[in-house]
Amino acid sequence: MCGIIGYIGQKEANSILIDGLKRMEYRGYDSAGVAVLDNGTIFSLKRIGKVAELARAQTKFPHRGPIGIGHTRWATHGNVSERNAHPHLSDDGRFAVVHNGIIENYLQIKAFLIERNYRFASDTDTEILANLIDYHYQKAPHLHFAEIVRKTLLHVEGTYGIAIISKIFADELVVARKGSPLLIGLGEGENIVASDAAAVARYTKRVVYLNDGEVASVRSDNFSITTLHENAVDVVCHELDWEIHDTDLADYPHYMLKEIFEQPSVIENAMRGRFTADGCSAKFGGISLIPRELRMVDRLLFCACGTAYHACLVGKYLIEKYARIPVDVEYASEFRYRNAPPQRNTLVFVVSQSGETIDTLAALHEAKRRGYMVLGITNVVGSTIARATDAGIYQHAGLEMGVASTKAFTSQITILSMLALLFARIRDMDAIVGLQYVQALKSLPIIASDVLKLSEQIRIIAEKYYGYERFLFLGRQAMYPIALEGALKLKEIAYVHAEAFPTAEMKHGPIALISEETICIFIATQNELLDKTMNNIQEVKARGGKVIAIVNNNCIAWEIFCDEVLIIPEVHPGINPITSVIPLQFLAYYIGILRGCDVDRPRNLAKSVTVE
Ligand code: GLU
Repeated sequence: MCGIIGYIGQKEANSILIDGLKRMEYRGYDSAGVAVLDNGTIFSLKRIGKVAELARAQTKFPHRGPIGIGHTRWATHGNVSERNAHPHLSDDGRFAVVHNGIIENYLQIKAFLIERNYRFASDTDTEILANLIDYHYQKAPHLHFAEIVRKTLLHVEGTYGIAIISKIFADELVVARKGSPLLIGLGEGENIVASDAAAVARYTKRVVYLNDGEVASVRSDNFSITTLHENAVDVVCHELDWEIHDTDLADYPHYMLKEIFEQPSVIENAMRGRFTADGCSAKFGGISLIPRELRMVDRLLFCACGTAYHACLVGKYLIEKYARIPVDVEYASEFRYRNAPPQRNTLVFVVSQSGETIDTLAALHEAKRRGYMVLGITNVVGSTIARATDAGIYQHAGLEMGVASTKAFTSQITILSMLALLFARIRDMDAIVGLQYVQALKSLPIIASDVLKLSEQIRIIAEKYYGYERFLFLGRQAMYPIALEGALKLKEIAYVHAEAFPTAEMKHGPIALISEETICIFIATQNELLDKTMNNIQEVKARGGKVIAIVNNNCIAWEIFCDEVLIIPEVHPGINPITSVIPLQFLAYYIGILRGCDVDRPRNLAKSVTVE
């Protein structure tokens, strides 16, 4: 969840480590630290709070060595304190370790080491790694650095991404992973290891991702990777498709706002090169299945978490509507543990922006164990999920820095809408209807730009309502998952309790919540059933509730019965969910700002959830 960085090269490690930590701040953390090897000694510096605190303290940290490691911690074992912040040094300062994850058998190992007179300075699980590595070094000082680490890790249970430096092995750093991401960024005369490509993108676009159970020895001009059991590894080098400006704010006050405004180009990138030459269907290079195989599919199963789960629910509505294939959507965290009845000819999709979400990864493994073919939709090239699936589709949305997803969500729905078109054209849609669908998709970036013009109007609405504590989001059909996403955004960004229901469900219970203190947001942009929705709006008004409606056309009825009306262009139903969610993203953003929240780094949340 948090971040690891390591540098080895000719430059001063310090500033590169701090820069890398800053670029991973978006992932969420509570303390930060660095350790640098300088003239044969490891020096460390740690601070609780922001990386900026650490950077300030660095002015009095004169260690200029060209090798070091850094960490942003999201505490799991031991409170948030400088003592518990990483890096952790072995008892006598020979080794320094940074670690993401959880060592499950740390108490046994700690007892073993205490018996052998090792002392501990923190309450973390991580510190045992530093001392256990030292123990194995003392036992066999002739071994190579990576061999010592391999021996150590054979005794360790749990999850880890780790980076280690040592004063004994002054021209090398060692990294390893099991369940927590790690990559090596390949530079000229320098290499940078990190848990997140955002930390290395500034220095190189060539990266090698470690797989679970692999250990790498990294020097300034080369590296080697083996498995824990010393088997050789086929090294694959990936090119990052991000631009360095993805990690800059440009003129925006927050990443969230920047990323909301990036959506027209993100949608365009999701579609680029993905329409067939006849202009009537979609194609995805990553899905190598031929039409005959796709035709054999009787059912689709989507597994995802959080916002990606809502994107999949939208996908269900669109795929069932257009392609007439039954679709199930499951929370990945549920699917992985429940014994879902097997189904024939099911194609499984896992969807995760980061490609590292541990629950989604576990669902992927469970689906593969059951013999399903599993395809992925992810944003991060070379991520664990991208590599573990049979094939997949990249979002090409650029790095998403805001913890609460916006542009990755619309990019996922764009891809799912195109999948609906692809499956529909194989089964149940003629070329003319396909052509109209494609034209609708192609018009989407411009229409999304029009919707972005509502920003100021929504800011003014937010000013009126930001003090309210109860919001209900209501939508029908494919707008129901959009309502869910609107409510989730408000919870994440503004810490306001919000719920979402299918519009007609309101009267089956939630209507008891309606009072003058309740804001109801109706997403009334699909043309069917508008009269029914109008009845629901009047039910809210009759009980004193406030109504904000997102609609396509202004009409006198909306004016009369709604407190606020937001008009967005009327579009093809296959893209309607995408245009309809943008106002909800703005609403959450502005309410969050007005309530004084840190919208880019909401409390308790992390960007990619790599713990269970
Ligand atoms: N379990 C370790 C700790 O609590 C690492 C947490 C993390 O991933 O940052 O220090």
